[in-house]
Amino acid sequence: MAYWNKCDLIIANALVVDGSGSAATKKDVAIDNDRLVEIGSLDGWMAEERIDATGLVLSPGFIDVHTHDDLEVIKNPTMDCKVSQGVTSVVAGNCGVSISPVYRSESMPAPFPLLGKPEEFSFPGIPDYREAFERARPAVNLALLIGHSSLRLNVMKETLDRPATDQEISLMSETLQRGLDEGSIGLSSGLDYPPAFAALKSEMVSLVRVLKDYPRAIYTTHMRDESDGVVDAVQETIATGREAGVPVVISHHKCAGPSNYGRSKITLDLIKTAQQTHRLALDVYPYTASSTSLLPRFIRNAEKILIAYSDPYPEFACQTLQEVADQWRCDLNEAAERLYPAGAIYFQMDEDDLRRILAFPSTMVGSDGLPTMAHPHPRLWGTFPRVLARYVRDQKLLSLEQAIHKMTGLSAKTFNLDERGLIRKGYFADLVLFDPKTIRDTATFEHPEQPARGISKVIVNGKVVWADSANTGQRSGVFLNH
Ligand SMILES: [Zn+2]
Repeated sequence: MAYWNKCDLIIANALVVDGSGSAATKKDVAIDNDRLVEIGSLDGWMAEERIDATGLVLSPGFIDVHTHDDLEVIKNPTMDCKVSQGVTSVVAGNCGVSISPVYRSESMPAPFPLLGKPEEFSFPGIPDYREAFERARPAVNLALLIGHSSLRLNVMKETLDRPATDQEISLMSETLQRGLDEGSIGLSSGLDYPPAFAALKSEMVSLVRVLKDYPRAIYTTHMRDESDGVVDAVQETIATGREAGVPVVISHHKCAGPSNYGRSKITLDLIKTAQQTHRLALDVYPYTASSTSLLPRFIRNAEKILIAYSDPYPEFACQTLQEVADQWRCDLNEAAERLYPAGAIYFQMDEDDLRRILAFPSTMVGSDGLPTMAHPHPRLWGTFPRVLARYVRDQKLLSLEQAIHKMTGLSAKTFNLDERGLIRKGYFADLVLFDPKTIRDTATFEHPEQPARGISKVIVNGKVVWADSANTGQRSGVFLNH
């Protein structure tokens, strides 16, 4: 009698794009419990369930390396905005603002409101956050960065508009070190925002240097300037990483404002040269509009600004700032100040820069989606399918294998997410099955909260969390630490 291997699930006849960048091949995949147990021809295997994936692509689940999902995974644990795109893991705590470790709950400066309300910052230590995460059982895996602005807020309270003293830096270093010991994967900064403007490069080098004792940790940065000073900011970032001796990821790289269009040629050249001697990567989202807090300083570099939410004037969501200013007979700055706390979408990038940055070999895909906004930027629901539809199928900027690598294998390697990001025997079964002919984003600036088309199934740690346009109710994500 023939000997049969048993497993939970077989996905047969899929075109497997394994996340490494190598060419797609037709294979069968066997999944048992939370792992990929065999790949290739599965003669002699039997399964509880079998999916015939003829005509579909099977790839590792997408890793959203740039998110602000810290609280979203707890408040909306089915995470439809992400799993509907094929995302199975998210990196949270970006741009200097992490929900933990923060021990303070009065009013909070921008951009903290993008994460949640002051009273929702209730995780003084990483273990507090991890416990809440595990209680919520989200559908996606999550790795957490510690925000530099969060550390500053804890130590410097109301006086964030000055450089930190040596004593404050050592207090921040202690908290960072404890957070890394307790499962955070690194440090993020948001030097373009009020809580961190005043931080000197030396403050950053001191803090980033803490990561050196953690060889798998990473520093990500929303740089000090993404518009007129973008070249200087790239240089500062490279110098910080180099002086600290720690790998760096430049977040959501862009050259914002019409007078800076085309400057990605300079920034990418700088990055390429620096990569010869230092580990440096970047991420990008596939849109020429950005989104963040509505602050007067961001206004001058945008061609058009849409209101994404306003606490005092919720009725203005989805109107332009110009329309609001016209109604109020005031200038844009005054309108922005009156609308605050508020968020906005800024049309301020050049398509050629975006294409150049996306095509750069060490660029990963990250959504930077902002789930708390009433009228969010469509990147929250559309990022990954948009790359596959617009930049792979329609424009042929990237091959399917290259694009998937930027969403999976490259991301897992850069962030040291073990045994994820590739379809390999023994790896975790985080997978997405999609139709390469029909996959596309449907989220738009007018109607941003729409699931993508063409995603057949999404599997997280061996469990199907999304199937045929709906979540299955399975929530099998885990907290990822080093
Ligand atoms: Zn940012």
